[in-house]
Amino acid sequence: MEKEFKDYMKLLYKIRRDKFTRTALNRAVKSFRIKRDEALKAFPHVEEEKKKLQETKDFVINHFDDFIEKTEKSVKTMHGNFHFAKDKDEALKILKGITGTGKTIVKGKSITSEEIDMNENLEKWGNTVYETDLGEFIVQNLKSRPMHILAPAVNIPKEKVAELFSKIANRELPPDPKKLTEFAREYLRDKYMEADIGISGANAITADTGSVFLFENEGNIRFATNAPDVHVVFSGIEKILPTLSDGFRLLEVVSRYAGYLAMTYVSIVSGPSKTGDIEKTIVYGAHGPREFHVILYDSGRSEVAKDPVLAPILRCVRCGACMYECAIYPITTGYWGYKYMGGIGIPWTACISGGVEKAAPMAFTCTLCGRCVKYCPMEIDVPEIVQEIREKLYKEGLVPPFIKNMVETVMKDGVPY
Ligand code: SF4
Repeated sequence: MEKEFKDYMKLLYKIRRDKFTRTALNRAVKSFRIKRDEALKAFPHVEEEKKKLQETKDFVINHFDDFIEKTEKSVKTMHGNFHFAKDKDEALKILKGITGTGKTIVKGKSITSEEIDMNENLEKWGNTVYETDLGEFIVQNLKSRPMHILAPAVNIPKEKVAELFSKIANRELPPDPKKLTEFAREYLRDKYMEADIGISGANAITADTGSVFLFENEGNIRFATNAPDVHVVFSGIEKILPTLSDGFRLLEVVSRYAGYLAMTYVSIVSGPSKTGDIEKTIVYGAHGPREFHVILYDSGRSEVAKDPVLAPILRCVRCGACMYECAIYPITTGYWGYKYMGGIGIPWTACISGGVEKAAPMAFTCTLCGRCVKYCPMEIDVPEIVQEIREKLYKEGLVPPFIKNMVETVMKDGVPY
């Protein structure tokens, strides 16, 4: 534990000194705050909407079993295939059953897929995977991992992206975001049509209709989920909302807190494509996918739902707003994290993906300043939850010795060193 904690602190100090990361983060934080404030000012009713959404999410969290059952029924009614995976092994078994081997797969951004190391496993089974979100495409080609929930490559400055894309393109590309985006667009265009399978996450799945809400700005998710023959949705159970109308409320809240007046694209997918144009006979598999799969993933979520202190973490709508306001995140980016990063990443690491031991260094890096609560639309009290996790770590003897010694010195001498 001591070595792990020291290595982790060394990594954070190293990142703090990395001028590329600092430059990229300074630009991103400044730009995000302006955009979010403008969006919230333009649509003040979002404050009321977010309260209603909090209540709805709490209701679902308290009745997961019922809502999973309803969602299954609705997905099947819409001629989709429903799967439930209680843990990583089950999720991978289901996924392998759908994808098999030798397939070309295009993917939309999904932090949940990181929980099961989806790309690594798909490739291990002999498939070729293309991340299509620009940030994820950068991360995939850098062989790195997402550093923010919404902006996976937030820590990479344009100069580094130009270097990377120049290597892929085999020609010199300038550090100009417009030109770099143009290159990614050209490169990925054919991949959508070649792909056998498209995989996406979900912003929401509505229990009443089995519909999957997908919010995006780039347009890649539309291609990735519409062009291939098979669309697979991989989503945590916390994404379930009772009704279609709740999905639209979520859209308003997430968009504004993520700093957008509106998302460019909103797709609502309810089953495979179909037509009734010939004698009103319904035929499944028209222009879009012929097969539609929803994999709902638990991995500890239903257990967390039973704990009154931890349950609010399942409200998280992944808007990413908290990270830009955090005291630590703008210095460390997602290196202050495992699969999930930042303050909210601490309980997600401890309870959902990674385990309490992996969360220990993160939990003891948090300053408990509470700025994240102020800017979180779901008003998740991360500092309170982090205290709970520290308590758990203490009981399990997982407090890093460096911290333990410091506390003992304070108790004895009144000063930390
Ligand atoms: S914790 Fe709150 S602010 Fe942070 S990503 Fe989740 S919903 Fe957004």
